[in-house]
Amino acid sequence: MYLRVMQILDGVLVSAHIKEQIKHEVNEWQTNGGKKPHLAAILVGNNPASEAYVGSKVKHCEELGFDSTLLRFEKDITESFLISEVERLNNDDTIDGILVQLPLPGHISGDSVINAISPGKDVDGFHPISLGKMLLGQPTFLPATPYGIMLMLEYYKIDTAGMHCVIIGRSNIVGTPMTILMSRASNPGNATVTMCHSKTKNLKEITLTADIIIAAIGRPKYVTADMVKPGAIIIDVGINRIDDPTKKSGSRLVGDVDFDNVAPLCSYITPVPKGVGLMTICGLMKNTLLAAKQAKELIG
Ligand code: NAD
Repeated sequence: MYLRVMQILDGVLVSAHIKEQIKHEVNEWQTNGGKKPHLAAILVGNNPASEAYVGSKVKHCEELGFDSTLLRFEKDITESFLISEVERLNNDDTIDGILVQLPLPGHISGDSVINAISPGKDVDGFHPISLGKMLLGQPTFLPATPYGIMLMLEYYKIDTAGMHCVIIGRSNIVGTPMTILMSRASNPGNATVTMCHSKTKNLKEITLTADIIIAAIGRPKYVTADMVKPGAIIIDVGINRIDDPTKKSGSRLVGDVDFDNVAPLCSYITPVPKGVGLMTICGLMKNTLLAAKQAKELIG
């Protein structure tokens, strides 16, 4: 019989700890002559979720002693104009990190815009050079969400070596890089990884063999209690807004995991909100600080 008490992987607690470390590092960096890390965020259009994400990133810059610049553009700007703006930021020595909030409007290729970011300023870790270096295990900017999840597992000293990790979702920004990080020879890592996606057959049979499930699907409460082995570790990346007439706003956020029914079964679980989302910001901020330090080495 399974007796271990379930523990919440608390994004508020862990992100507060990491933010203190970053603040300390920024202070030390400035004391030694470094300049404030400076993040430039690009927002196209006025998608409410994107506005909220970018707003939070800018707010975190202030909190951590970074400079930030928010560039907002109408949703009908051209791809070539957006790329020229990215190039302008690439050539601006006062900017250390550039992030382009996704998704972009349909007429703009996200790949082309991301490819235009200088790899040295790619603090979201989405550029092909960053992803290629990650694949090869070379030092680079890790994609912010997978990086944040690794920081969370590290904080709780969860030894994932030899575990079966089932990742649901194969996006370039979460699922795919997560498979690389969880399988590489590091701790956290060293897991045996299965990647599942929309064409996977018998998903439940696979998830029932998982010691860790990382769900990045974008479907509210998709991972249900009957899909989870007792004692499993659950990392819920999903952020889905569902109707909730009991809330003043008429809606609330839920993850890809049916938290209420899955939590009693598992050993560790991330809540939504206050879980992975906060860790993503930590990943981004750590990358921005790293970019500032690397720029100083390059520019002098
Ligand atoms: P995406 O929307 O690009 O892709 C979803 C993935 O889920 C696809 O790879 C698809 O194959 C898979 N999928 C869809 N239906 C499936 C099914 N029935 N069975 C198995 N797999 C299925 O994914 P994304 O951009 O990685 O986002 C996933 C979720 O994570 C979204 O809710 C998003 O809002 C959220 N997200 C959260 C953070 C965070 O910081 N917490 C960061 C990024 C994304």
